[in-house]
Amino acid sequence: MSETAVVWFRDDLRVHDNETLVEAVRAADEVVPLYVFDEREHAGAGMFDRPKKGARWGRFRREAVLDLRESLRDLGGELLVRHGDPRAVVPAVAETLDADTVHLQTKPATEELADEHAVKSLLAERDVGVERHWTHTLYHVDDLPTPYTDIQDTFTPWRKEVEREAAVRDSLPAPETVPTPDLGEAGDAAVPTLADLGHDPDEATADDRGVLAFEGGETAALERLEDYVWTGDHLRNYKETRNGLLGADYSSKFSAWLAHGCLSPRYVHAEVDRYEDERVSNEDTYWLVFELLWRDFFQFQFLKHGADFFAPNGIRDVRKEWRRDEEAREAFERWAAGETGVPFVDANMRELNATGYMSNRGRQNVASFLADAMGVDWRLGAAYFESRLVDYDVASNWGNWAYQAGVGNDSRDNYFDVLGQAERYDPGAEYVTHWLPELAGLPAEYAHRPWRLSEAEQAEYGVDLGRDYPAPLFDVEARYRNL
Ligand SMILES: Cc1cc2nc3c(=O)[nH]c(=O)nc-3n(C[C@H](O)[C@H](O)[C@H](O)COP(=O)(O)OP(=O)(O)OC[C@H]3O[C@@H](n4cnc5c(N)ncnc54)[C@H](O)[C@@H]3O)c2cc1C
Repeated sequence: MSETAVVWFRDDLRVHDNETLVEAVRAADEVVPLYVFDEREHAGAGMFDRPKKGARWGRFRREAVLDLRESLRDLGGELLVRHGDPRAVVPAVAETLDADTVHLQTKPATEELADEHAVKSLLAERDVGVERHWTHTLYHVDDLPTPYTDIQDTFTPWRKEVEREAAVRDSLPAPETVPTPDLGEAGDAAVPTLADLGHDPDEATADDRGVLAFEGGETAALERLEDYVWTGDHLRNYKETRNGLLGADYSSKFSAWLAHGCLSPRYVHAEVDRYEDERVSNEDTYWLVFELLWRDFFQFQFLKHGADFFAPNGIRDVRKEWRRDEEAREAFERWAAGETGVPFVDANMRELNATGYMSNRGRQNVASFLADAMGVDWRLGAAYFESRLVDYDVASNWGNWAYQAGVGNDSRDNYFDVLGQAERYDPGAEYVTHWLPELAGLPAEYAHRPWRLSEAEQAEYGVDLGRDYPAPLFDVEARYRNL
């Protein structure tokens, strides 16, 4: 009897190194790849009345699905595309196709796991089996030396143990063919437009001041890897340049493709190995893998701690006073709009708002400013990032936010002095004036601290504080003296 498998693609929009697809092809005679645009992701409401995902995330996701459909067609397959609630759609599709098994990518976060369980129980009622595959980290969850339930909550000992005792599995090649049966009219469903998905297409347009256009899909992901690692030869300097702020190549910019699963971390690792063999092996080349370990760490931490990551006191139940009142909300809105009057914070927030991306250095600083200097509930910031980032990943985002707010995986309570950081990482104020052209006429010291301008200097440089650029929310220098 012939065996039919459905492959439910989730955050694994690729054909390279995709065990879910490979295993389905190995086990079944007929394979039906399926992607469901989840109406809750696109048009749904997130925490604190924020939209769940932004238009740029939606645009990237849509491009990734279109690209996946092409890749599957090249392998002789076809992607079934639906729009709705996957908890209803996946079992209904399996039933219509009389499928024996649904293969799916399992994810560590609470909502994704709840969806898996809901789908699994509905499929069990229809006598359809479920095969879950762990495919989004560098190290496989089954290969951790200590089971995820008992792993250390501090990064360095966890990393050292994994590096010492576990090995990264080989990256899998794409299957040679994907034997999808003729789906008839069902296979013709068009990929929904951004407007169909509930996004405003005008909000998804690229801004040419951004570091990169971030086109969704596996094809663009592999091109970026080729450009960054091989053509540009940037890996040899990664650790040295990774704290940069301007331009495409100070860091890999792989995050969005990793988050949507267009790029496999094991494939990146294999390419780093090859680069080390063929070109150079140094601390910088290792450091990209080190950062992928941070990514892994947060994924496994989410599996361990689940919903505690969304609690104001975090996984360690750290009691802090977070401001949530009306005044805090208003201050938060100024932070979100890039209108705090602190240029380094505002430039980063304006970059995020205009492009869906912000550097790691920027993310650390704006998060610390909101949580430490403003004292506003850090979860407002995390939810805002969720609605804006093109590379949003639940574990990386909420894990890093909690960490920065001092309630996550670090018992030290370190804050960033954004003024010192601005002067260290943007000494000539090129970054700040790139995003705040209204400050372009100022000497760098004033571009980072415009409140120090006297009335006469404001007139001399043509910057009227409070009109051309906001006066600061509060006395930032005094705040850092007292923190
Ligand atoms: C408050 C805050 C929120 C963040 N939210 C997200 C998010 O939603 N999605 C996301 O992918 N990253 C997030 N990060 C991590 C990091 O800022 C981005 O991954 C990185 O800036 C993306 O640029 P890149 O790909 O050029 O990184 P590179 O410097 O080239 O790093 C390579 C890869 O390593 C991983 N990585 C690097 N740093 C981290 C880190 N601190 N934590 C986890 N993974 C890391 C990413 O997958 C990244 O693509 C957040 C960091 C902070 C401080």
